[in-house]
Amino acid sequence: MRYGKNAGKGTLSVWGGEESAFAERSTQVPVFMGVAHAYEELDEWIDVSLGKKPGHIYGRNTNPTVRVFEEKVRLLEGAEAATSAATGMGIISSVLCSLVDPGERVVSIKDTYGGTTVLFQEFLPRQGVTAALCDTTDHDAIEEEIAKGCKLLYLETPTNPTIKILDIERLTKAGHKAGAIVVVDNTFATPINQNPIELGADLVLHSATKFLGGHADALGGVVCGKAELVKKVYHYREINGAALAPMSAYLLLRGMKTLSLRINRQNENALAIARFLEAHPSIDRVFYPGLESHPGHTIARRQMRGFGGMMSFSLKGESLEAANRFLRRLRLAHKAANLGAVETIAGVPATTSHVECTAEERKALGIPETLIRYSVGIEDVQDLMDDLAQALNGPGL
Ligand SMILES: *Cc1c(COP(=O)(O)O)cnc(C)c1O
Repeated sequence: MRYGKNAGKGTLSVWGGEESAFAERSTQVPVFMGVAHAYEELDEWIDVSLGKKPGHIYGRNTNPTVRVFEEKVRLLEGAEAATSAATGMGIISSVLCSLVDPGERVVSIKDTYGGTTVLFQEFLPRQGVTAALCDTTDHDAIEEEIAKGCKLLYLETPTNPTIKILDIERLTKAGHKAGAIVVVDNTFATPINQNPIELGADLVLHSATKFLGGHADALGGVVCGKAELVKKVYHYREINGAALAPMSAYLLLRGMKTLSLRINRQNENALAIARFLEAHPSIDRVFYPGLESHPGHTIARRQMRGFGGMMSFSLKGESLEAANRFLRRLRLAHKAANLGAVETIAGVPATTSHVECTAEERKALGIPETLIRYSVGIEDVQDLMDDLAQALNGPGL
């Protein structure tokens, strides 16, 4: 082994899953584009097909490049097993469809990722599965809902776009007491900042499209945790066909080599920017768990090693037009729907996470129309602050 049992996240980001030599002694993971693997002996073919022998058969099931990606995430999350999908939603829908049966119940929160909320409200009910979506800030209410009985407890923290924090350890205990499988969407925190499995969760999943890949050039999703559960998710995913493409797995792996470096930089940049914005007269509120003023700060301090690169802030004033004026002046950011990349990205919930909602619905969710979602990149923090300052100091805010 190239590293010890207690190797740090930086070492695992670089070497995890890549410890042994690849074909032709390549130091880098080869991209296996072939959809099938050939066998001359039927005995061996059968053994590999049945999983009695290691190996690969067909690309919708497994692929060697994809396998390395799953292994790297598994090591970073400290999990028993991992499997992947073409996108974050591909893995989330596979988890929910493979682990919950008709007549069973899911407990979750109102602030899950938009696509996940659609699964809970539109698609799971069609399969006879009900989802109770609780107020994200009310832990007592969530525990009460869990105690009524549920097959699966689905958590996400920090949340999108108002960066709320759930106490993973507390809710996991409540979930396990009710006999539920506990799943955590760890996309915003990344395994550098938070490891839900250490806090008791059974499964942890990611949209690898975001921070894991980090370069906004590949879609992907991954889940890891208890082997028996991962096996069920994998079995569903090999049949629904949402397999991660080998080239995407390669891009994600290449991005992940700098995961620890990037996330630590994004943690630092985001905290400095949050403090700067909190003191700015044109800003109404800043939502960032690293700020002492954040209602989830104490929990975040306990369960996170860093507070992440995601924040949001609301401008003084009410209208979407004020947000539009601000965004037009902001230069050092893509105005785009994604997040978690090396470049800073800004948007508003009305065009990103809550595009399906009406203005009234956003208001009911506590999302101000002038809320700016700001995914902090790895640029020099002074340049980002200068850019924010000039955009905030312009007319019409
Ligand atoms: C983007 C995102 C997803 C969905 O991932 P895709 O790769 O876009 O399918 C799920 N959860 C969170 C928290 C996300 O930010």
